[in-house]
Amino acid sequence: MASSDATSTYDLVIVGAGPAGSAAAITAAGLGMSVCLVDKATFPRDKCCGDGLTTLALRQLEELGLRPDAVPQWYDVDGAWLRSPSGREVHVPLPSEGRYAAVAPRRELDDSLVRRAREVGVMVIEGRSFVDLDQDHRSVVVTFDDKSSIEADWLVAADGMWSPIRKRLGMTPPSYLGEWHAFRQYARNVSGPAASRLYVWFDRDLLPGYAWSFPLPGNRVNIGFGILRDGERRVQDMKQTWSDLLSRPHVVDALGPGFELEDRHTAWPIPARVDRAVTGVGRTLIVGDAVMATDTLTGEGIGQALLTGSEAVRAIALGGEPTDVRRAYRRRVHEHLLADHRMSERLSKILARERGANGAIAVLDHAGNWGRRNFARWMFEDEPRAIAVTPRRWHRRLFRQTGTYGIPSGQLPFGE
Ligand SMILES: Cc1cc2nc3c(=O)[nH]c(=O)nc-3n(C[C@H](O)[C@H](O)[C@H](O)COP(=O)(O)OP(=O)(O)OC[C@H]3O[C@@H](n4cnc5c(N)ncnc54)[C@H](O)[C@@H]3O)c2cc1C
Repeated sequence: MASSDATSTYDLVIVGAGPAGSAAAITAAGLGMSVCLVDKATFPRDKCCGDGLTTLALRQLEELGLRPDAVPQWYDVDGAWLRSPSGREVHVPLPSEGRYAAVAPRRELDDSLVRRAREVGVMVIEGRSFVDLDQDHRSVVVTFDDKSSIEADWLVAADGMWSPIRKRLGMTPPSYLGEWHAFRQYARNVSGPAASRLYVWFDRDLLPGYAWSFPLPGNRVNIGFGILRDGERRVQDMKQTWSDLLSRPHVVDALGPGFELEDRHTAWPIPARVDRAVTGVGRTLIVGDAVMATDTLTGEGIGQALLTGSEAVRAIALGGEPTDVRRAYRRRVHEHLLADHRMSERLSKILARERGANGAIAVLDHAGNWGRRNFARWMFEDEPRAIAVTPRRWHRRLFRQTGTYGIPSGQLPFGE
């Protein structure tokens, strides 16, 4: 590995300090690598997101040593309220032994991960934008907008949906705009049940997409909606849908009278084609949204970003020729995500039809407590999407694992 020389030479340089980049950095530091994590933003910075953390994300965060109390507006969630296109509402509760889902504003979550990276010895550089790279068999040199450069054995591209690195490598499909497009805004003075409940609304015009309201402390929520970009819908139409959605009776009832929207809404694409994405080129491995790893059923990608970030570093740590490392990383990505991606695609087709969405919620309504609880665990990715058809991933505590952070949901473990 390259010798660490305080200014410009590292074992690993990571561009992008979202969840994928920070996970890669923290994992690499834990394996004894010298790491530099660079982002064009200065933290804390916002990221357009629903802020929802699945069990998959929580298990990764716990492993990275992130404590919930490092995120001031962390909100534990104990289930979800789902509404079908026909208006049937079903509550799916999560078990109470540990945390299975939470909401954490990205401004705070990403900042706390960057702080965690610094804590474990990562060199973090903010306000510096990737411009170019040059790689050969031995190393990679990355240059930035201030004309500085960093040389490393490996580069991890964690630079998000638009990934300038993926583009520079010629690996972005022409005219690529992502599989989903999603809107989000914060609201305050929420007096209805949405102040403490997580809602998912499968409204007819959004299928197979959905609208959400995720609770935050202090009677605030993160509210938004996402739709699949299937060529028929234009982002322009989404602006109309947004104002219409906020006046729908079930949404108004959930938020309560007098709720106020904060700032302005933001919108951002979501990439979900990990089956076709290029995972690495030369001495560069691509992770998170840059490798298009979000779940194509829900558009959730924080857990997948954390997972791919850590797995890229574990593949690098195996050593060997660049082709061996790239192959090892690709295999890990596919082992973790490929079957689930295909399952999500199939389920998404069912949800795309109104009858399918109504039928799915009706089945849940009659499922009984045990069925609904296990559905909630599956929905929040406590087990992989395609667990039923991938016996290699079955384990003794299937659907019986306790939640994360080892304490009952709703209690603060680190208040001492
Ligand atoms: C509206 C919306 C709602 C969503 N809701 C959820 C949800 O509730 N739960 C969930 O799990 N997922 C959700 N997602 C998906 C989730 O936001 C992403 O999957 C996740 O942010 C991916 O993390 P990442 O680290 O790969 O990329 P990002 O979080 O996008 O981070 C990329 C980083 O790269 C940096 N960067 C970019 N270009 C450069 C450059 N040239 N030089 C240096 N740095 C650069 C950026 O500043 C940024 O910090 C949602 C997405 C959207 C759009």
